[in-house]
Amino acid sequence: MKKTNIYVTQPSLPPLEEYLKYLRQIWDSKILTNNGPFHQQLEKEMAEFLGVKYISLFANGTLALLTALQVLRITGEVITTPYSFVATTHALWWNQIKPVFVDIEPKYCNMDPEKIEAAITPQTTAILPVHVYGNPCYVERIQEIADTYGLKVIYDAAHAFGVNLNGTSILNYGDLSTLSFHATKPFTTMEGGAIVSHDEKTKQRIDYLKNFGFAGETKVIAPGINSKMNEMQAALGLIQLKHYNENIEKRRKVAEIYKSELKKIKGISALPDYPELGNYNYIYFPIFVDEKQYGKSRDKLYNHMKRNNIYGRRYFYPLISDFPTYRGLHSAKEENLSIAKEISKRVICLPIYPELKINEINRIMRLLKS
Ligand SMILES: *Cc1c(COP(=O)(O)O)cnc(C)c1O
Repeated sequence: MKKTNIYVTQPSLPPLEEYLKYLRQIWDSKILTNNGPFHQQLEKEMAEFLGVKYISLFANGTLALLTALQVLRITGEVITTPYSFVATTHALWWNQIKPVFVDIEPKYCNMDPEKIEAAITPQTTAILPVHVYGNPCYVERIQEIADTYGLKVIYDAAHAFGVNLNGTSILNYGDLSTLSFHATKPFTTMEGGAIVSHDEKTKQRIDYLKNFGFAGETKVIAPGINSKMNEMQAALGLIQLKHYNENIEKRRKVAEIYKSELKKIKGISALPDYPELGNYNYIYFPIFVDEKQYGKSRDKLYNHMKRNNIYGRRYFYPLISDFPTYRGLHSAKEENLSIAKEISKRVICLPIYPELKINEINRIMRLLKS
């Protein structure tokens, strides 16, 4: 008998009946996009839900990143991490900004703040860190450096929806944070994204830029783009908010089983808990293979899982700095990024999603033990 395929994630969708009610309203009103009623409602409800001041919704997370850089007029060089999804660095490239990679710290795989200062030049205008796997960067230290050198901070918070640090949303740190609501993320509008901002003027500027730069019927204030979220996405988002907490609770249960089972396996480790964290979202469940102790390399295990229809993903391998576009950069040199390099060779993200069944979790664990 062929075993069912288990993928690294599976999108959580609400009951179709709930969505059909919203779709009927869209069909009746014929308002499909351009800051429609569901778009406005979702911006308001999401800001409340997350505990942030302003949300601007986007068609996807990459456009949110591209636009965030434009909003703050970032130019020259930006300090970023090679250990992320490739869109983080692509957003710089599309803005003709030179990415400068710094290494990560080995505990949570986030940008190492102590490596930032050495990478600053007169051309540096901003820092673009990523809250990898939803664990917060060292935000206080990063802000301190940014203040000293007069730099902006934009967080790629695509992994950090809902996450709190010391009782406040992680999205309240930095000048701007961007989110992704892609199908693979715990909160999804199929495609979608957002920029979180902290004052009304910035929110206004973001909203101009995502709508071609229009600031009125005949006034165009900048070369904006079209990155608006449509009403079908926004309506889905309104329903997803209602189901979010129960979905995360189911993810948490999967993660708890993984954590206790992995303690029994020599040579495979998980991330440590983050003590100051609230409302963790369990977006990924990365494991790290120590080849010597485990007796098998990461790729051997990865392929063994694959042959048994379990499709983990090597997030993040290869490093962004190893792709052809970026590998020629001075900061992409291996000796500059030794920790990121090492971790990217050891990581596999295990399947995690609300509907993952206990017998499927057991199947995965048996495979890791065999
Ligand atoms: C998902 C993701 C993005 C891109 O978001 P899209 O909505 O797919 O465009 C950017 N950065 C990180 C770290 C991501 O995980």
